[in-house]
Amino acid sequence: MRTVNAYGAVSATEPLEPMTIERRDVGPHDVLIEIDYAGICHSDIHTLRGEWGPITYPQVVGHEIVGHVAEVGSAVTKHQVGDRVGVGCESGSCGECTQCLKGEEVYCLKGNLQTYAGLDVDGTITQGGYSQAIVVDEGFVLKVPESLPLHKVAPLLCAGVTLFSPLKHWNVGAGTNVAIVGMGGLGHVGVKLAHALGADVTVLSRTLAKQKDGLELGADHYYATSDAATFEKLTGKFDLILNTVSAGLDYSQYVNLLAVDGTLVILGAPTEPVKIDAMSLITHRRSIAGSANGGIPITQEMLDFCADHNILPETELIESSQINEAYERVLSSDVRYRFVIDAKTFA
Ligand code: NAP
Ligand code: ZN
Repeated sequence: MRTVNAYGAVSATEPLEPMTIERRDVGPHDVLIEIDYAGICHSDIHTLRGEWGPITYPQVVGHEIVGHVAEVGSAVTKHQVGDRVGVGCESGSCGECTQCLKGEEVYCLKGNLQTYAGLDVDGTITQGGYSQAIVVDEGFVLKVPESLPLHKVAPLLCAGVTLFSPLKHWNVGAGTNVAIVGMGGLGHVGVKLAHALGADVTVLSRTLAKQKDGLELGADHYYATSDAATFEKLTGKFDLILNTVSAGLDYSQYVNLLAVDGTLVILGAPTEPVKIDAMSLITHRRSIAGSANGGIPITQEMLDFCADHNILPETELIESSQINEAYERVLSSDVRYRFVIDAKTFA
């Protein structure tokens, strides 16, 4: 066991604070990672505030982790000391079910092990990346391409793959009309990825405040959802709508923007139930789906794709002492477009 500095919450209502946590000894298949940077995902906030159900405190979150390998277990073959690596939302799975065998560990039929707030095999609760170091099974450690600057890469480990995975699953490419709902951490990476895949990309944001940014990031069109005319103008337009909004929406409004056979994919995870008007699905054979971040192979494919296409998230680097303020800014959509914590400041 080793003790490392971290930043976490002691309850759902108190601010995060500095704390220490234990990391397990490096087992034969484990990699010890000295963390360089950790992104702040809106899921971190939902989790710590108990919005997805009660959790055990103290809890350290963070599942957009990049760093360097500091030690490897005796049986590790995939990584070496000094390698630039990343860890995303999952740190383990059964490895034997049909989903795991397909490399879709995120959909493990026995339930995957979340990088934080997950129940580990030894009965402990996993603690996330807002910390100095982490020990992870080598199979869940990604290689970060050399060309990508480490301080910008972290958000790709969750936001990046959460958008890349449905874009690939629904075969987005040249000729596909894609809408991204919400220009936040997930949404802005989605714009870049969909554009690089050749799609015609539309951002649907509440206002036009981020329009200039959206168009610069690769969107072809940008509309305000606060304007009722948007929903009339775009009726039946999209093959795929990726909803990244962290709050409940009038989903039927968005379903009506789908073409025949189009799909609305729910990525944002508010607690409110999804209510949809049945007729708007039936009349155009439209679908509604959900999608979780992504398995290890597609996460690596996404990192390599970002290296090939020079895609990096827009980030704001902060110190650990700024995490609480950053949370408030995420909640008020005042983030351009992902906060990344410098792990040196956990010292
Ligand atoms: P974020 O940076 O806060 O972005 C969310 C965006 O949603 C905001 O920028 C805003 O976009 C829009 N929004 C926020 N409140 C809204 C409201 N009341 N009504 C309408 N739009 C609103 O959050 P994020 O980190 O991208 O995460 C977004 C959601 O995805 C969260 O619920 C998170 O837990 C979830 N998530 C899911 C997965 C998955 O595997 N499926 C992975 C990661 C995150 P505009 O300002 O442009 O309107
Ligand atoms: Zn996340």
